Amino acid sequence: MITVTRTKAKHFLTKSKLNDGLTCNPYGGCQHGCLYCYANYTVPGRSDYDAWGKAVEIREYPNLDIPRNTGAKPLIFSSATDAYQPIEATERSMRRILEAIHESDLKVKILTKGALVERDVDIFRRMRSLEVGFSLSLDDRAARIFEPGASAPSARISALRQLKTAGLKTYVFIAPIFPHLTDVFALIETLRADVDYFMFDTLNLSHPHNRQKILEAIRKHYPEHYPAYVRIFMDKDKTYYQTLKQEISGHMDAHGLDYTYIYP
Ligand code: SF4
Repeated sequence: MITVTRTKAKHFLTKSKLNDGLTCNPYGGCQHGCLYCYANYTVPGRSDYDAWGKAVEIREYPNLDIPRNTGAKPLIFSSATDAYQPIEATERSMRRILEAIHESDLKVKILTKGALVERDVDIFRRMRSLEVGFSLSLDDRAARIFEPGASAPSARISALRQLKTAGLKTYVFIAPIFPHLTDVFALIETLRADVDYFMFDTLNLSHPHNRQKILEAIRKHYPEHYPAYVRIFMDKDKTYYQTLKQEISGHMDAHGLDYTYIYP
């Protein structure tokens, strides 16, 4: 059961600390409810962390202040929510925003776990600069545990292929990499024909609340990996991710694939 609220918002674009550009969060909260989500901890003054995934705020913009000449500023969808979470199917907030900005000079980048993104391919084709990517790191079984409200990874892959077939620039963000659960190399091989580039990131469990949730879930569903998770996330052993990074770089370079890391 999802609690839905509505607020009036003045501006739909805000400055982003991530890329010296802009970001847009059409919703507050996220129905995808990923257990590891750290957007959960970014709302000042809020401590009801277990409510994440169960409440969505719909932001209504009476006036969409459409930027025309921004100097090709980057615009990210989204930094603290997922614009293609299930409620978008009926609310269509993201679609209205895209209709408003599609003629601007913004360099738009969308990252999602919602296969619903495929719906907007007609607008995407009209945009001047656009990249659409999916976060993917788990199989369908594990995603039901760790990303319970998101589209199944198999549905994301199928949507990604549709977007590529439509001629769009696409990428995949292999993140968060779950030690011993994410088969990075299988994902690369599955997706290399469908994306223009790859990005990689680790599982970030720096907040005690999400660390506890993930460790509990690993102990329950993947007990054989629990000792490794304690070593990596409690004892701060960096060996796993450092070794993996070297292996990924070797693989990507050997196959001439384009990639970046988010983690150091
Ligand atoms: S899709 Fe992104 S914003 Fe939504 S819960 Fe998952 S990690 Fe958080």
